[in-house]
Amino acid sequence: LVDASYDRIREVDDQVKAFLTLDEEHARSQAKQLDAAPDADARLFAIPAGIKDNIVTKGLRTTCGSQFLKNFDDPLYNATVVEKLNAEKTVTVGKLNMDEFAMGSSTENSSYASTRNPWNTDHVPGGSSGGSAASVAAGEVLFSLGSDTGGSIRQPASFCGVVGMKPTYGRVSRSGLVAFASSLDQIGPITHSVGDNARVLEVISGHDKMDSTSANVDVPSYTDKLTGDVKGMKIAVPKEYLSEGVAPEVKEAVMNALKVYELLGAEWEEVSLPHSKYAVSAYYLLASSEASANLARFDGVRYGVRSDKANNMMDMFTHSRSEGFGDEVKRRIMLGTFALSSGYYDAYYKKAQKVRTLIKNDFDQILNDYDVVIGPTAPTPAFKVGEKVDDPLTMYANDILTIPVNLAGVPGISVPCGFSEKGLPIGLQIIGNAFDEGTVYRAAHAYE
Ligand code: GLN
Repeated sequence: LVDASYDRIREVDDQVKAFLTLDEEHARSQAKQLDAAPDADARLFAIPAGIKDNIVTKGLRTTCGSQFLKNFDDPLYNATVVEKLNAEKTVTVGKLNMDEFAMGSSTENSSYASTRNPWNTDHVPGGSSGGSAASVAAGEVLFSLGSDTGGSIRQPASFCGVVGMKPTYGRVSRSGLVAFASSLDQIGPITHSVGDNARVLEVISGHDKMDSTSANVDVPSYTDKLTGDVKGMKIAVPKEYLSEGVAPEVKEAVMNALKVYELLGAEWEEVSLPHSKYAVSAYYLLASSEASANLARFDGVRYGVRSDKANNMMDMFTHSRSEGFGDEVKRRIMLGTFALSSGYYDAYYKKAQKVRTLIKNDFDQILNDYDVVIGPTAPTPAFKVGEKVDDPLTMYANDILTIPVNLAGVPGISVPCGFSEKGLPIGLQIIGNAFDEGTVYRAAHAYE
């Protein structure tokens, strides 16, 4: 499997550009060792995996897609998720491209390369986990890990025709995930099938004393939930998720999926998430505010590159940050710093927090009466490389259907539900109650 993975990378990664760093020598020797001592108890024995480059890997370069960390070759420890995968004997093939510090929706904000959509390389793979989704879609690895703050697992999964799960906030440890917006970030698996996804989430979930926000909630067997039975399941379809902004071909694919659910004996009804129209505005204030604080650690002292232009300490901070960060990251730091500054805090940050609560209440109410919420993952199929890169606001609006789920903290999955006229994949989003990934998987699996 590991040989096949590197063969495939050699064959296609020049065009797809999913990987930033490969760990070939180590991975091959690890594969040999595993070969010599097969372990039937290991739940992911010898499965080649790719890891998003904001998840730290001991001794393996971790750049977050940023020039600031281009020399961060030797992280001292593994993220908890990586330890958990290692314990089940996966093989880490390499690190995957992403928008710088996970800020973006197309992977064009990577300071290294723009990953391409394997279905059509003129198109973006989505983002920020574009490398994670593209590597699975292109058959370079059997699964990957991504991170999702406002849609960064689900939207690229949708664009690349693969399965991507953003678990409940707190389900998976964030220890070793380079923080973007700590109250929203979650790590999750990207796979070909729902079954594979459930298998990987089972392994990486669970309470971790290294992450005080990880929840002490039992992890059930998700694979046991894949019964194929959704008879009597109650599905809510928010009308805001099928409004004008959503492309007709995306709506059609979602309506077809709902027909499949009807045939399987589930029932669906239209509902409303009245505050979802404020989600993008609230998210960009909150995520940028948290980012402005989290990214303060990149000062040229402890991590990454230090500018050699500086004559004194303040100069060193300024030059290192000016040279190290790209435009989008600077834009977010400025926005976040402004929103948190005294005099503006109540008007922006605090207001956005209140809106967040309203959005969470919308979901809580609906998920009281229904098992899952279903809609599209993204308003359109993958757009063209370069199409939105000069227009941050249009790029931000692309996240309108995924962001509410992060604000509410609930789990959401994207599963393929058809193709556009141009032959690009379309994704169906299934959202569930907090810590009820099992029902989300059951719904996704029955449809798949
Ligand atoms: N596209 C969104 C942003 O740029 C979400 C990113 C993410 O989920 N990491 O912030």
